[in-house]
Amino acid sequence: MATIFTRIINGDIPCYKIAEDDNFFAFLDINPLKAGHTLVVPKRETDYLFDLEDDDLTGIMLFSKKVAAAIRIAYPCNRIGVAVLGLEVPHAHIHLIPMDSMEDVNFKNPKLKFTPEEFREIAANISKYVIL
Ligand code: AMP
Repeated sequence: MATIFTRIINGDIPCYKIAEDDNFFAFLDINPLKAGHTLVVPKRETDYLFDLEDDDLTGIMLFSKKVAAAIRIAYPCNRIGVAVLGLEVPHAHIHLIPMDSMEDVNFKNPKLKFTPEEFREIAANISKYVIL
């Protein structure tokens, strides 16, 4: 059965999309640690990041670099934290999180709550700066 991220990529489940190209897709994490917390996923479904083919592994980092640049413009911060967990969804993904301190990327922190309108605004705010 397709993962929830494949269903998002296929448009069967809604998301707050940031950007996509032929191979990768970026959208807001629905349980964000910070405004702008984004997930980047490969369109080719693979559970474990390091099981990706070399092309997809390098490609997802290069795609993430472009998305991270846009997040940093939209949400100025010290840097964009990069995390890979994969404990919840068996579809490789990279978390991109605006951070000013280590505490900002503590996954034990309570997640932020945004209204659908706020999520839409955040996604639009970032996506307008993405240059693929
Ligand atoms: P992990 O697999 O441990 O990296 O966690 C999966 C992440 O995906 C969590 O941060 C969830 O909040 C996020 N997530 C799960 N379902 C959705 C969804 N439908 N839309 C956006 N983010 C999601």
